[in-house]
Amino acid sequence: MALNSPWRAEFPGLLALEAEGQTYLDSAATAQKPQVVLDALLAYLAGGVANVHRAQHLPGERATRAFEATRSKAAQWLNALGSDEIVFTRGSTESLNLLAYGLEHLLQPGGQIVISAAEHHANLLPWQQLAKRRGLELVVLPLDAAGGIDLGEAARLIGPRTRLLAVSQLSNVLGRWQPLTELLALAKAHSALTVIDGAQGAVHARPDMQALGCDFYVCSAHKLYGPDGVGLLYARGEALAKLQHWQFGGEMLQDADYHDARFRPAPLGFEAGTPAVSAVIALGAALDWLNGLDQAAVAAHEAALHGELLAGLQARAGVRLLGEPQLALACFQVEGVHNADLAHLLSEQGIAVRTGHHCAMPLMKRLGLAGATRVSLGLYNDGADLQRFFVALDKALELLR
Ligand code: PMP
Repeated sequence: MALNSPWRAEFPGLLALEAEGQTYLDSAATAQKPQVVLDALLAYLAGGVANVHRAQHLPGERATRAFEATRSKAAQWLNALGSDEIVFTRGSTESLNLLAYGLEHLLQPGGQIVISAAEHHANLLPWQQLAKRRGLELVVLPLDAAGGIDLGEAARLIGPRTRLLAVSQLSNVLGRWQPLTELLALAKAHSALTVIDGAQGAVHARPDMQALGCDFYVCSAHKLYGPDGVGLLYARGEALAKLQHWQFGGEMLQDADYHDARFRPAPLGFEAGTPAVSAVIALGAALDWLNGLDQAAVAAHEAALHGELLAGLQARAGVRLLGEPQLALACFQVEGVHNADLAHLLSEQGIAVRTGHHCAMPLMKRLGLAGATRVSLGLYNDGADLQRFFVALDKALELLR
């Protein structure tokens, strides 16, 4: 099947890589950017920059307006109740660190923080370190064979001592949607705070904060076909009010003395220092672009590509898939073949896939693996990318086995 992507031509970076002989299959790490995002970046930078929320001059007002317009677009895109619920950060990792510091005062020794075995380091280490600082127990929800969080075990492990649940929406290793509705209900039954890592999930299904009903949700612009250096933290009104300030400086305060200060409420109180102004403005363009896509067509294209990826991997002897990925990516291991050798031979043939622990080292250990190879798809990939990958894989395996 040809499986041509109707969006491919909008991505100059992808075409540049192709002209260099590179097949980009690493969009779960970071995505290429459409022309409209590059245009927005250049228009702002070339049009005269200014800092935001500080100056009364025209360029300052213009930059602030454009910056705040992205906040409104992000609130709409996430179906939040208002733009005050959106904090700009550097990315998902910073959003999660903000939460681990901002919620610290609410978590008492002896309580439990619940995560899952599938978490990316970004949604593990901030909680692990917080648990150590405050004398809490970190509870790790086990996975079923497919790679989903085991709901029976979750019902047993989430209990009256659970103060916070932090799980990913879509695993960057196992490619499965987690059963968030059930997990959030379990956590809420014990009045625990809820945090969703949407770094991968936001890319493949439009997030809806009102339907989801979590307290906090994080995602990164660079995976959403937007610029790097900016992420979103959504915090539901009442949850937002509980956050303690965590980084200090710049315009995040109301009043300061040498020995004391009063801070602004969210969102600005959580955006210390000069933010990534150009990236935030370009994120606005990325969100407009995402809004304009035919979601059903994107989902159908991604599903067809993913089906082809799985079928091709499953057809090859000795290839073992990690879990049962539902979309976007597949991680695999080849019997008798070292990941690093495979990575080397694939990259020599111009195949850009990711090999290693995928920032989920404890998960790899639990699966008994030193690492795995991950192929991940963007909406700009097409059937020819997969064909090139499989030709290269066959050649590499011929040499290695
Ligand atoms: N969570 C998941 C599931 C991820 O895949 C990633 C990025 N690989 C992150 C968190 C961290 O995102 P960032 O590097 O943009 O902070």
